[in-house]
Amino acid sequence: MDGFHLDIPFNRPYTTGRELRYIQEAVDGLQLSGNGPFGERCEDWLQQRTQVHRAMLTPSCTAALELAALLLDVGPGDEIIMPSFTFPSTATAFVLRGATPVFVDIREDTLNIDERLVEGAVTERTRAVVPVHYAGVSAELDALRAIADRHGLAVVEDAAQALASTYHGRPVGRDGDYAAISFHETKNVMCGEGGALLLNVEEAAPRAEIIREKGTDRARLFRGEVDKYTWRDLGSSFLLSEVNAAFLWAQLEQADEITAERLRIWQAYDAVFADLEDGLARRPVVPEHCTHNAHMYYLLLADGPTRDWLIQELRREGIVALFHFLPLHTSDAGLRFGRAGSELTVTSWASERVVRLPLWIGMGEDEIGRVVRAVTKALTSRERPIEVGAR
Ligand SMILES: *Cc1c(COP(=O)(O)O)cnc(C)c1O
Repeated sequence: MDGFHLDIPFNRPYTTGRELRYIQEAVDGLQLSGNGPFGERCEDWLQQRTQVHRAMLTPSCTAALELAALLLDVGPGDEIIMPSFTFPSTATAFVLRGATPVFVDIREDTLNIDERLVEGAVTERTRAVVPVHYAGVSAELDALRAIADRHGLAVVEDAAQALASTYHGRPVGRDGDYAAISFHETKNVMCGEGGALLLNVEEAAPRAEIIREKGTDRARLFRGEVDKYTWRDLGSSFLLSEVNAAFLWAQLEQADEITAERLRIWQAYDAVFADLEDGLARRPVVPEHCTHNAHMYYLLLADGPTRDWLIQELRREGIVALFHFLPLHTSDAGLRFGRAGSELTVTSWASERVVRLPLWIGMGEDEIGRVVRAVTKALTSRERPIEVGAR
């Protein structure tokens, strides 16, 4: 070690203190595979909170998206409309089935899929539209639903970041045919690796049970509905272990407190950074009809070099800030498996300019203040405009 010390990490996983107790209970209960009592508790909670027909825990959001792709029976030649500004899982879930991701640009305000461009990307091969609720702020689900209904498409929400957010007063996850949630360590409520598929298509639930039980009707055996279980359909191993579900339950119990605490930090940032909006940075936009879960605080800067420079300046002050997403449409796999369904200029614009600031439970006034001062000092001291390639 050379004395270099990063004192404000980008993320620090929060634990409520009950995780180990619940895991011990699960161990004592002698059922550690999926579909145990903690898993049921988590699924009931999710169903109540999101008002969906059915919630099924999965090993990840990625697995939940893959399960949705299997339920939709998409295959080679089929097209799935999605943003390019997202995590690769949004696309891979469908590429695994042989389908083609068709990338559509995002809105400048929320950085969510631009619903005004979706209809222009629909072809006779389109099967679904997959909005991503960036930073926990909902995409325009009403408009997307109308387009989907006009063309007979499914709506699959990548709600990885959006548990506890609302759209026109409705819980996010309730509007799509399916919605996928993540409980990855980097998300607000987590269990290391985990996820859930929310189902609003009632008829799909029995098949989803079979698919996630490796293609068998074992779930029905456990309910006493059949006297043996057999191979019934395509499937995979899409159940969340009871160990993870026990951990997750400790988090879901405190989901409201977690959201409130994250919002407090988010709002502290947002209030101060209003002063940067005279040309130095743009703050996140949350439409009036949306509430969000403070999954992320980000700023959009003047240009790419300024963003990269700010990240370095912050790191010199011991603050870890990050950027993402590298657009899928210009990635190796995106070029190989997908195609553009519109111009993608806003995607490139946002991807170059976005910087994400530390936001984790346990950040005190002290740490928030340090981030705020470091960002403000750097941006107000930097001469502009910045020459591209200057650093
Ligand atoms: C985190 C994330 C995922 C992947 O979630 P996992 O649970 O790690 O599979 C997918 N999509 C988006 C938008 C995400 O933020």
